[in-house]
Amino acid sequence: MNSDWIHRLTQWVGLERDAQAVVRVGRTLRARRECKTTLNIYEPWLPTGAHNGVRALPSKAAALLLLAGALWHGASADAVDQPLAKLQAVPFKEVTIQDSFWAPRRETNRIASIPFSLQKLEEAGNIEDMRLAARHATKGFRGPVFMDSDLYKALEAASYSLATHPDPALEKQLDDIIAIMAAAQQPDGYLNSYYTVKEPGKRWTNLRDCHELYCAGHMFEAAVAHHQATGKTAFLNIATRYADYIDSVFGPPPKRLGYPGHPEIELALIKLWRATGNQRYFELARFFVENRGRKFFATEHHTPLDKYDGSYFQDDVPIYDHQNIKGHAVRAAYLMSGVTEVASQTGDQRLLAMLDRVWRNTTERNQYLTGGIGPSAHNEGFTVDYDLPNQSAYQETCATIALAQWAHRLALLYGDARYADAVERALYNGMLSGVSQDGTKFFYVNPLESAGTHHRSPWFGCACCPPNVTRTLAALGGYAYAVSADSLYVNLYIQGSAQAKVGGTPVTLKVKTDYPWDGKVALEVAPASRAKFALRLRVPGWCHNASVAVNHRAVKAPVVERGYLVLDREWKRGDRVELELAMPAERVAANPRVKADQGHLAIQRGPIVYCLEQCDQSEPVSALWLPLEAPLKAAREPGLLDGVVTITGEASLARDQNWRRSLYQTAAPADHVALKAIPYYAWDNRKPGAMKVWLPVAPPVTLVRGLEAQAKATLSFANDNSQPQGINDGVEPKSSGEQPSALCHWWPHQGTEEWAQYTWKKPVQVSGARAYWFDDTGRGNCRLPASWRIEYRDGSDWKPVTTTENYPVAKDQWCAVRFAPVKTSALRLRVQLPPNFASGVHEWKVDEVDDEP
Ligand SMILES: [Zn+2]
Repeated sequence: MNSDWIHRLTQWVGLERDAQAVVRVGRTLRARRECKTTLNIYEPWLPTGAHNGVRALPSKAAALLLLAGALWHGASADAVDQPLAKLQAVPFKEVTIQDSFWAPRRETNRIASIPFSLQKLEEAGNIEDMRLAARHATKGFRGPVFMDSDLYKALEAASYSLATHPDPALEKQLDDIIAIMAAAQQPDGYLNSYYTVKEPGKRWTNLRDCHELYCAGHMFEAAVAHHQATGKTAFLNIATRYADYIDSVFGPPPKRLGYPGHPEIELALIKLWRATGNQRYFELARFFVENRGRKFFATEHHTPLDKYDGSYFQDDVPIYDHQNIKGHAVRAAYLMSGVTEVASQTGDQRLLAMLDRVWRNTTERNQYLTGGIGPSAHNEGFTVDYDLPNQSAYQETCATIALAQWAHRLALLYGDARYADAVERALYNGMLSGVSQDGTKFFYVNPLESAGTHHRSPWFGCACCPPNVTRTLAALGGYAYAVSADSLYVNLYIQGSAQAKVGGTPVTLKVKTDYPWDGKVALEVAPASRAKFALRLRVPGWCHNASVAVNHRAVKAPVVERGYLVLDREWKRGDRVELELAMPAERVAANPRVKADQGHLAIQRGPIVYCLEQCDQSEPVSALWLPLEAPLKAAREPGLLDGVVTITGEASLARDQNWRRSLYQTAAPADHVALKAIPYYAWDNRKPGAMKVWLPVAPPVTLVRGLEAQAKATLSFANDNSQPQGINDGVEPKSSGEQPSALCHWWPHQGTEEWAQYTWKKPVQVSGARAYWFDDTGRGNCRLPASWRIEYRDGSDWKPVTTTENYPVAKDQWCAVRFAPVKTSALRLRVQLPPNFASGVHEWKVDEVDDEP
């Protein structure tokens, strides 16, 4: 698409106005046209008939659509044909954030989350493991094999914080930890607390599972951050010594073939290369990228090739041949970030084409509305296209962050706003939901629907997510701006300022806005001296209608390129730009291929995705539906959740009908009740309760649940990720191997006898029970129980129910037993775990005695 042509067409359509509204840019219109031919996953919902309006439009409006379509075509051309823009991000240190949205969160991050995470790393043993390594101890290692990586991410976050907020006490704390690391580093440069303490002599023996290269990558990122923040070299020296050693081990013959089971080191080596100028680090990143897919892990683990499926590790095909996003979501997106960096330097057309294919597959078929990726707990990753369940959505916080990192690199590579759109969606929704309002509780898993049982935790046995959020928030400004030789790009609208150099001229940009609550953005441009360059303002993909003014006057020759509104002129100190992005509350529909969202719409306003949370509703969230015509109203609520814009309207209420003994009834008329939606990222900060992003547009199908729904579930033993309430939540499994968001299990107990108990407030009469057993053979240690039985409470005694049937034990089906009716206030499901294994149960249902006349 040629910009002259756009310009002429724009003028003909009459887009220039004398008033301040100058440009209407139809990014959504583009998306609408696009979705007729390809497969956009989400789009604004339009009333019936609106989709067919194109032919009836008068000629100028039709031309506007033509313009919009042409622009879209330009933006969606095959990436390989696109020139590489190769923008430079404006470093976060040059960006000041002074707004009402991010600034308070970043302050909470600095004063609460970062110290809290360092304290948790001490309690959990991450720092102590490093001390053990420094003391040459061979006992006492605690935690999983990747403990070092969480420490490094926390050090990275703390370093970014130091860069913008000097803090001598924090700096001293980091220096002390870095001194421990220096002492733990081996003479040849190797540094990994697990292999030093727990498995000395076995380094590099299990690249697939043991995360040495992954940990090294996080160390390099942290070391670069620390050096940039403090100017000190102690940490950077540790990192370069380690990188030099890794470089001496891995590479083309005579060095070893190998690459990490969990990618990350690739993108980190690029950072180390940029920080040190040492080209070998780039070449090593390139080696890891270009060799991936040679099925090294099959060789390493003596797996016959015909039995090897490396897709979980993105090792099933040569890196050039990936057709779609696959496997573990964080690994996939970190890998693609590294590939993007390498391809950006080498210009390798095969890699660029692969990235384009996989990116489109990710965002057109495999991304949640909240910006995250990876629907399945089973592999912490991808399943099949359009599989985006809501209640069991995994959407790991780290995966959303990894997606933002990849999108940011593509945004820099191509200078195309659609990638920055993805950064925005991820940051304002799926990343931010990862941390509580007070900064000390975190989500690992981010479902889009909850029955009220999913809550943030202070920490995790696998603590990858908390420090990933803290490092993202601490360096957030780095996502906002970018420069090329002749342009300054504004990707995120955040009140504050930025210092950038455009074509050699220092430019200060001041931004005033109440984004994301308001679409008005005022920018003041102040170059050191008069300078000609283009200010490129991203028109977000969600925006139907944008207008702009420069110095309160109409802009001549408005141009939109690759989703950016281009203001190319000579700038002088004090020039002002006013951008206005229309930001109505809207309903969003999902591609009908997304089964979970069929018959549902979500609410979005600007970049913010909304949800209903139980504590704002007068009726159960599960019974509410949102009629298509019900108006939605946005209003700022300063006292709520740090001051959010809420969306209110009227919902319909599906009335409870008693179906006990009837097969058909007159349908109950709907009641109408007030509805209030809050930003998705802010849920689970108040009273615990149900939550939903996608709302039915008709009366919802209610879960059929029996007496168990009214019982309180307790377990003989539950570790911190076993959820007793999963046993009676009514979510029916499709298979024993499925991993639901709330799973009841007795892991890590093995071979013991355990129980689950239902307790009712009033006695119930029951005559049967059914269990659906959990079994994660192939990835975990839960198996079908050796045996089970039902007991009932009689006074203070537990007695077996009387049955002539066997208690069946089988995978992938309900295992049912009938027994002589008992009246009781509590039942127990007694389970004998198999030797050397644990067990779990998806659902346990009980059959009520039907003895009414
Ligand atoms: Zn994580």
